[in-house]
Amino acid sequence: MGASGKILVFVDLPDRELDETGRGMLSYAARLAGTLGSSWSAAVAVMPDRGQLAVFGAYGTPAVVCIEGGAALLDTPTLLGKHLAQLARDESATVVLLPHNDLGATMAPIVAHALDGAIMTELVAVRKGADGVRLSRKTLGVRIAETRVWDSSRPLIATVPLRTLSQVIMATVRPSSPSLVAWCPAAPISAAMATIISRIPPDPQTVDLTEADVIFSAGKGCDPTTFEQLKELCRELNVSFGVTRPVYDLGWTGFERMVGQTGRTVTPRLYVALGISGSMHHIGGIKDSRRIIAVNSDAKAPIFPNVDEGFVGDLKELLPRLLKQVKAGTGGAP
Ligand SMILES: Cc1cc2nc3c(=O)[nH]c(=O)nc-3n(C[C@H](O)[C@H](O)[C@H](O)COP(=O)(O)OP(=O)(O)OC[C@H]3O[C@@H](n4cnc5c(N)ncnc54)[C@H](O)[C@@H]3O)c2cc1C
Repeated sequence: MGASGKILVFVDLPDRELDETGRGMLSYAARLAGTLGSSWSAAVAVMPDRGQLAVFGAYGTPAVVCIEGGAALLDTPTLLGKHLAQLARDESATVVLLPHNDLGATMAPIVAHALDGAIMTELVAVRKGADGVRLSRKTLGVRIAETRVWDSSRPLIATVPLRTLSQVIMATVRPSSPSLVAWCPAAPISAAMATIISRIPPDPQTVDLTEADVIFSAGKGCDPTTFEQLKELCRELNVSFGVTRPVYDLGWTGFERMVGQTGRTVTPRLYVALGISGSMHHIGGIKDSRRIIAVNSDAKAPIFPNVDEGFVGDLKELLPRLLKQVKAGTGGAP
C-alpha cells in the first residue's frame, strides 16, 4: 500500500454534535492528507444532520461515511471497531485515524488486528522522510519523544492525543461541501463483545495531572492557611490542584501533584498559578496549557510575561473571598 492512499478518520459525535475532539480530528486529518498527498474522508457512527454536515465542510472534509446502525454499536466498541475495519477495507484506506479517547483507544487495536496493520498510539507529528514516513509520539507523560518509520507496506492505525487535537483545531483548511454516504457491511459482522454498561467521569481530585482539564496550583506564596483554602476551592469547583517544587519539598503533598520540569508536564484547558514566581523549571511544565492565569503579590514577578492574564494581589485576601463567593454560588456551607 502506498503512503498516498486514502486516510479514513473516525469522528464520534457525542450528542450528535461535532465537539472539540471531532473538529480536531478533521483538522488533523486535513493536515496529514496535505503532508502525505492523500485523499481523505470521515467515518461516523451517527448520521450528522444538515447543520452538522456544514460544520464538517467548514473543516474541509471531502466526504462523510456513516456506518449504518453505528449509533447502536457505540456501547460495543469491539463490534464497532470491526465495522470500521471493514469500512477501511472497502474504502481502500491506508491510514485509519482515531482520537485517543476511551472509544478510539479501545477500537484502535481491533482495527489494527482486523487489517493486519501497524499501530501507533498517541501520534503527535508526521513527516515524510527519504526512508518512509516518520511518525512521532510522546511517551511517559509527554516527556520523551519516540520516532518510528512507517514504510507503508501495511495500513497504519493511529490514535491522536486529545491535547494535540486541541492544538491543531485552528489549522487553515479549504471549506468543502462534503458528500454524505451511508455504509453497510456486505456480510454480517460478529464479534465476542464486551458491552459498556456505564461511563464514570474522572474525579478531578484524583485524576493524573497530565490528564486534568483545569488545574489550580499553589506556590511558595501560599502559607498553610491559604494552601488549605486553595484545596477547598478546588474541591468546591471540582477541579484539580497542583504545587510547585518548594511546596512539595515542604511535604504538603505527594510527588504526583508537583508540576514542572521534574514534576508533571501538564496541558490543561486552564492553569491557574497562585503565588508562583514563574521559574523556568515551572514554566517548562505548564507552557502548553491552553490558558494560564496568575496571581502574585509582586507586580514584577517573572511569571507575568508568560501568562494570558495576570493579577497582582495577595492570596491572604483573595482566597478567603473567592472561596466565600464560590461557596455562595455553588450552594456550599458559607
Ligand atoms: C533541576 C531543577 C529542577 C526543578 N524542577 C522544578 C519543577 O519541576 N517544578 C517546580 O515548580 N520547580 C522546580 N524547580 C525549582 C524552581 O527552580 C523554583 O525554585 C520553583 O519553581 C519556585 O517555586 P515557587 O514559585 O513556588 O516559589 P518562589 O520562587 O519562592 O515564589 C513565590 C512567589 O509567591 C509570591 N507571593 C508571596 N506571597 C504571596 C502572597 N501572599 N500572595 C500572592 N503571591 C505571593 C512571591 O511574590 C513569589 O513570586 C527545579 C529546580 C531545579 C534546580
